[in-house]
Amino acid sequence: MSVPVITLNNGVQIPQVGYGVFQVPAEETQRAVEAALEVGYRHIDTAAGYDNEEGVGAALRAVGLPREDVFVTTKVRNKDHGFEETLAAFDASSTALRLDVVDLYLIHWPVPSKDGYVQTWRALEKLHADGAARSVGVSNFLPEHLERLRTETDVVPAVNQVEVHPGYQNRAVADASAAAGVAVEAYSPLGRGAALTKPAVTGAADELGVTPAQVVLRWHVQHGRIVIPKSVTPERVAANIDLFGFELDEDQMAAIDALDAGERTGGDPATMDLPQG
Ligand code: NDP
Repeated sequence: MSVPVITLNNGVQIPQVGYGVFQVPAEETQRAVEAALEVGYRHIDTAAGYDNEEGVGAALRAVGLPREDVFVTTKVRNKDHGFEETLAAFDASSTALRLDVVDLYLIHWPVPSKDGYVQTWRALEKLHADGAARSVGVSNFLPEHLERLRTETDVVPAVNQVEVHPGYQNRAVADASAAAGVAVEAYSPLGRGAALTKPAVTGAADELGVTPAQVVLRWHVQHGRIVIPKSVTPERVAANIDLFGFELDEDQMAAIDALDAGERTGGDPATMDLPQG
């Protein structure tokens, strides 16, 4: 299984398809991540707020791949915004993951009401400079949050991990990120399942002899986005990375592009401030 890599603005390469573990229960995470690694995933997306970093770390250790072969992302919780708080949060995450170096460390949400994301970003800049995080980035950042980092800080985020799927294409945020040199990473890439029953998707799946989820993920890939689908169902986990033996034609791409309907499934980055992040 050969998954393309995307080269981030700092030269670091990230596998374009990763395995997301949001809502994978802590006690199931080791088994789920081991299974994902066994079918070829080399990029795992977790967060302190998912309470399953230990399971990710245990799976990495059990499978025993060379460290440089697996790309690991985690995120700082909303309640840990602030310079010192974020440095401490990073230590806790790297301990839970049993990793000295994390490949990508993200600010999970901007929480503009707390006005702490600039100081949090300063901590990520330090972690990057110290070599503890090979790349640093953001998640759920709106164009105004990216702009504030641009004017007040030094390092351009490597990625902005945001909600993108056929029913919620988030174009203003994706375009602003790309224009700033920030790679777009699509979370909830299947719309938590909502994208899979749209006729444009099921029609293309029938035409190509693949599953609706493969159509949607292939659509993301052809748009150049990084994707991090989540599943705990073994055949889905395997299918969700098997995206490189078929191609959507222009009409199939355009039909899915036309599904954008503002159907957000996650939180609103302008207001989201749950402490766990
Ligand atoms: P997804 O769009 O990945 O959808 C996951 C759902 O789709 C699950 O119910 C899963 O079921 C189902 N599913 C997965 N594959 C298939 C398939 N092939 N056929 C049919 N159904 C399928 O949503 P998530 O919200 O989980 O997002 C993915 C990842 O994005 C998260 O795990 C996390 O890493 C990241 N994320 C980041 C956020 C952020 O704020 N930065 C917010 C939300 C997510 P089942 O597991 O039962 O198979």
